[in-house]
Amino acid sequence: MDFTLTAEQQMYRKTLREFVDREIVPVARDWEHAGRYPTEIVEAMKRLGLFGMVIPAEYGGLGIDTVSFALTFEELSRGWMGIAGILGSHSVSCWMISRHGTPEQRERYLPGLAEGTRRTGIALTEPGAGTDLQGIRTVARRDGDDYIVNGTKMWITNARHADPLPVLVKTDPAASPAHKGMSILLVDAGSAGYQVARDIGKLGYKGTESCEVVLTDVRVPAANLLGGVEGRGLQQALSALETGRINIAARAVGVAQRAYDEALHYARQREAFGHPIGDFQAIQLRLAEMATNLQAARLLTYWAAAQMDAGRRMDTESGMAKIFASEVAMQCATDSMRIHGGYGYSTEFEVERLYRDAPLMAIGEGTNDVLRTVVAKSLLAGHAVVA
Ligand SMILES: Cc1cc2nc3c(=O)[nH]c(=O)nc-3n(C[C@H](O)[C@H](O)[C@H](O)COP(=O)(O)OP(=O)(O)OC[C@H]3O[C@@H](n4cnc5c(N)ncnc54)[C@H](O)[C@@H]3O)c2cc1C
Repeated sequence: MDFTLTAEQQMYRKTLREFVDREIVPVARDWEHAGRYPTEIVEAMKRLGLFGMVIPAEYGGLGIDTVSFALTFEELSRGWMGIAGILGSHSVSCWMISRHGTPEQRERYLPGLAEGTRRTGIALTEPGAGTDLQGIRTVARRDGDDYIVNGTKMWITNARHADPLPVLVKTDPAASPAHKGMSILLVDAGSAGYQVARDIGKLGYKGTESCEVVLTDVRVPAANLLGGVEGRGLQQALSALETGRINIAARAVGVAQRAYDEALHYARQREAFGHPIGDFQAIQLRLAEMATNLQAARLLTYWAAAQMDAGRRMDTESGMAKIFASEVAMQCATDSMRIHGGYGYSTEFEVERLYRDAPLMAIGEGTNDVLRTVVAKSLLAGHAVVA
């Protein structure tokens, strides 16, 4: 077996690593605490072409492979996970429009999205429905050549910058099963009745906004129905979330890597009882455990990404990677904090941000508990085999 990255992937990672060390690491702590929007970093990511990562070259994107996609989120999250958030839901949405959009929709949106002059996100969750997406209440009623949309979406990442925002709606609220009446509409931000109502306060994942979006009698042209056919919205969203899970797993690997790096550095230079604390076996056991789990999470994530690049089904694999890597990120953040002693609790060190950012990966793109049931069903049905 060959576990090495290709020469191209190594070069791509090197470029990203240098970018993160130069532009993100030096400012992350101060900007995160100040609640500052990282405009300069966004502009630099545009110049690198990162907003077009998953968009085919014919529309001006980089069209990178899935392993490189994972490397991007890993490296950015090593610097500041919130920055990965800015690209994460943008990329999930771009992937969905590239894959499922009509030729006219691709032509209209993808070139701007690839440049980052247009940005996007994805609006699925509602106040009363997150995991249970078939329980959403946002309704789109057909009126001539338009839909009239009413509803509220919660936790929408990038909402203040998204144009268009793909919104999961019910085009036939009476359909049974419910998913047959669900569709995605590409809602233009300037539409009358479209309102980003508020930013939701958060434990971590700062730098990118998470908002409540209210749609009141918003008129959306039928030409903005993703793919042009009603009833496919849930499938379109769920297929995009498979790449989303790779992105979340890779973010978790990046956070775990940083927690480990900070712990290793601290264990070498902090002294107690006349020794570097790294001489104590209790510290060594934690470091070894962190490094082992981190490397296992990384390999599982790259493996799931490589399955996708090979054109294989990878819903179970991406779920397994996301579950494992996110648990590892939380454990590494906690262990790094313990190794830092009192300073781990200080806002003057990086580890407290990692500790606040890590839990999101266990929640986003499907909670770990729900994903465990999805993985189990796939195993029981024989769709995925672990052997
Ligand atoms: C910072 C942040 C950013 C986000 N960004 C976006 C975004 O950009 N777009 C978007 O659409 N959403 C976004 N979300 C929403 C996120 O996807 C949901 O929070 C997530 O899917 C869980 O939904 P919920 O919060 O409604 O929890 P619920 O679905 O209410 O779940 C609550 C608990 O019940 C458990 N549970 C639910 N159903 C089952 C079941 N069948 N079996 C076992 N356990 C179950 C869950 O595991 C969880 O422990 C974001 C969330 C956060 C926190």
